[in-house]
Amino acid sequence: MNLKSKNVIIFTDLDGTMLDYRDYSCGKVALLVSKLKNRGVIIVFCSSKTRAEQEIYRSQLKLNSPFISENGGAIFIDKNYFPFNYEYHKIDSGYHVIELGMPYRKIKDRLDKIREINNLSFRGFGDMGVNEVVEITGLDRVSAELAKKRDYSESLNLTGSEKDIVFILKQIEIAGLKWTRGTRFYSISSGSDKGKAVRVLLGLFKREYGLVSTIGVGDSPNDFSMLAEVDIPVLVQKISGNWEDVDLPNLHKVEGIGPDGWVNALTNLMMV
Ligand SMILES: [Mg+2]
Repeated sequence: MNLKSKNVIIFTDLDGTMLDYRDYSCGKVALLVSKLKNRGVIIVFCSSKTRAEQEIYRSQLKLNSPFISENGGAIFIDKNYFPFNYEYHKIDSGYHVIELGMPYRKIKDRLDKIREINNLSFRGFGDMGVNEVVEITGLDRVSAELAKKRDYSESLNLTGSEKDIVFILKQIEIAGLKWTRGTRFYSISSGSDKGKAVRVLLGLFKREYGLVSTIGVGDSPNDFSMLAEVDIPVLVQKISGNWEDVDLPNLHKVEGIGPDGWVNALTNLMMV
């Protein structure tokens, strides 16, 4: 399908999708992003990354559109972006912030309790020093600091046998939390997800534009809820060369790992 119409909104994952898997750079998509922007296409990050991390890519790609942080934990909207009033929870650094997730401290407390009661040793970003985050992610030090600035979700590095991991995930569910698997890590939240955040933000876009066409691009299970909300869901290839396994109507499995797939998909869909 080709889209020529105005009011196209692309909801996109970052890690393993728009960003290079190894060095987290957005270099491969930069040219296409600028072409799409010139055509009035709106690009919305929808990522497990924190607000501070996403702000770096926003500035590199010169985007001013709203973005969704921490797997749907919150939506950040430049306060003058929409020309009408709408509900939000707070104003922070020039953003209207719509909060959908539980505060990080509460999530962390519950995870600490699970670890203590069951004598487990799993670790999240909040339990790690910057060096450890650098080691497991491959991020540079500054980016690792930004990745630790979590407000609505915790990223867990679950290692060990499948049985051990299943046990931990079960305890997380019993504690009233939800989990999802991203490109590298498990993300723990109170049940906020990318799909819910996309729905809320789409409501605002529809108020401004009426009809909109939506594309979603992702690589991992934490993207499924986002992909389910859009007209055209796209999966890029993972680093293994496989696509994540999911059954969604109209799903496009595009050739290309991460940003190569992103460029392929959007070049074809938007006839750039
Ligand atoms: Mg991803």
